[in-house]
Amino acid sequence: MSDDTPPWETKPAKQSALYIHWCMHEGCKEWGAYGFAGRYGVEWFCYDHKSDGKKTPK
Ligand SMILES: [Zn+2]
Repeated sequence: MSDDTPPWETKPAKQSALYIHWCMHEGCKEWGAYGFAGRYGVEWFCYDHKSDGKKTPK
């Protein structure tokens, strides 16, 4: 049972970090499937919070 490790679990953390991004909304733990060009680079948000990424900072 313990040998049944999915391929993505064996990838180096350094590489995974490039692809694993969670919703940046405060307190949200959802997967950030939607990327937006933000002030500090690409910002990621889930479906429920993707409107956050469309907000234009004043
Ligand atoms: Zn979210």
